Amino acid sequence: MTASDRAYSPPAPDAALFPAQARRQEVDDYLTRALAHGLERMRAGPVTPDIDIEAFKRDLAGFDFATPRPLAELLDWSIAMLEHGVTHQTHPRYFGLFNPAPTFPAQCADRIVNSFNPQVASATTSPAAVALEAHVIRSIAQRAGFPSGAGGHFTSGGSEANYTGMLCALTRAHPAFASDGARGFPGAPVFYTSRECHGSWVKIAHQAGIGRSAARLVATDGHGRISMAALEQAIAQDLAAGRVPFLIVASAGTSNAGMIDPLHACADLAARHGLWYHVDAAWGGAVVASGRLRAALAGLERADSATIDAHKWLATTMGCGMFVVRDPAAPGAAFNVAASYMPSNELSLDPYMNSLQWSRRFLGLRLFLSLASAGWAGHAAHIERAVALTARIRSELESRGWSVLNDSPLAVLSLVPPAALGDPRAVVARVLKGGRAWVSLARFEEHDVVRICVTHGETSAEDLSILVQALHPG
Ligand SMILES: *Cc1c(COP(=O)(O)O)cnc(C)c1O
Repeated sequence: MTASDRAYSPPAPDAALFPAQARRQEVDDYLTRALAHGLERMRAGPVTPDIDIEAFKRDLAGFDFATPRPLAELLDWSIAMLEHGVTHQTHPRYFGLFNPAPTFPAQCADRIVNSFNPQVASATTSPAAVALEAHVIRSIAQRAGFPSGAGGHFTSGGSEANYTGMLCALTRAHPAFASDGARGFPGAPVFYTSRECHGSWVKIAHQAGIGRSAARLVATDGHGRISMAALEQAIAQDLAAGRVPFLIVASAGTSNAGMIDPLHACADLAARHGLWYHVDAAWGGAVVASGRLRAALAGLERADSATIDAHKWLATTMGCGMFVVRDPAAPGAAFNVAASYMPSNELSLDPYMNSLQWSRRFLGLRLFLSLASAGWAGHAAHIERAVALTARIRSELESRGWSVLNDSPLAVLSLVPPAALGDPRAVVARVLKGGRAWVSLARFEEHDVVRICVTHGETSAEDLSILVQALHPG
C-alpha cells in the first residue's frame, strides 16, 4: 500500500439505500411488528379490496421521486396499500384460485434468501444452493414415482415449467428445431391437450413460434376430462394432413374444476405415436405428498416431464414452480449456450445452461424448509384437510338444494345454486360485494358454475359457516 491508498476515503454510501446496521435492525423490528398488526387487521376485514383506487392513483401521482421520504413512513404506506388494495389470498375465507396462503417456513426462507441474495445461475458461484435445489427436485420426482435418474429445476411458476416442457419436446421431436425453429419441421408441428387445459398452453404455443393454432384443444368427455376418442381422432387427422404431432399434455387438476385426465391412457397413446408426454399438475401435483390421495395421480410417473408448482398446493410464496423431467439431459439440449464470461459451462449442473432463466433467485429453499420442518406428513395433512373441508362445504350446500357438477377427488367444487338464489353469476357477484368470502365464476362443460376451492391452511369451521351463509343467505 502506498500512502495515497491509505488516505483515500470513498464517498459515503447513500444512507437511505444502505443504512447503518443499527438503523436496519430498528426498521426491521418495526416492520415485523407493523406487518403482524396489518395481517391481523386483514384477517378481520373483507377478503376483497376496499381501496378507493382513484384516490390511490392520485396519491401515486404525487410520487415524482424528486423528494425522498422517510422509509418508516413508506413501509406503513406499503402495508396499507396491500391491506386495502388487493384480494387477500392469505385470508382464511379466500376460496379462490390456486393461491394458498404461504407456509411460515417458506416465508422464513424468503427472508434468508433476500438477505444473501445469491445468484443461482451457476454451480460455481452458488454450489450449495444449486445442490439444495437439485435435492428437492429429486425428492419431488421420486415421490411422484419418476425413476431415480429424473431431474428438473425450479421455475418462476407453472407457465415457465410448461414452456420448458414444450421446448424439450420440440427439441427432441426434430433435430432441426434447435437451428431452424418451427420451419425446420417437414410439416406444421402440433400438440394436444384438452380444451379444459390451462390457458398458458396457448400463450406458450405463440411464444415458441409454432403458432396458437398448433394447440389442438381436444374435446372433453362431458366431465371435464380429455376425450380419448377425440384425442386419437385429432392425431390421426393431423398425421393424414402431413402435420407433425410432437406432444400430448394431460392436465392433472384442471384450473377450472380440479379434473384429472386419464393419465395412463394418455401415456399409452403418446408411447404409441412416439410423442413427448407432459403432465400439467401445477396445482394437483402436490397430492403426491398424501399417501391417501396420491393414487388419483396414477400414471403421472410415466410422463416425460411434469409441472408441479411449489406456490400452488405446496404453499410456498410466489412465484415458485417446478419442472420435473425423466431424462435430465433433455433441458440441456434446449438451453445450452456458450458464454466466455461465465465462471463455468457445466452442462450437467449449471441452471443457466438447463433452463429458460439466466440470473435466477434461490427458490428451492422455500420448499426445502417447508418439507424439512413439516415432512411429507405435514404436507399430506395440509392437502387432506383441504379435501375434507371441501367435502363439508359440498354436503352443507347439497342439503340446501345446490348441485355439484364436477367429480374431482381434489379440493374444487363446480356448483350450481338452486334457481331461487339466481344464476351463478348473480350469486358470485353478491358474495364478492359482501366481501366476507371470495369465490369465483367459472364455466364447466357448458354451464356457468360457482367455483370454490379450499386453499388456506387455517380455514376454520366458523369460516365455513360464514361462506355458506354468504352463498346461501337465510
Ligand atoms: C396455475 C396453473 C398453471 C400456470 O402456472 P403459474 O404458476 O400460474 O404460471 C398451469 N397449469 C395449471 C393446471 C395450473 O393450475
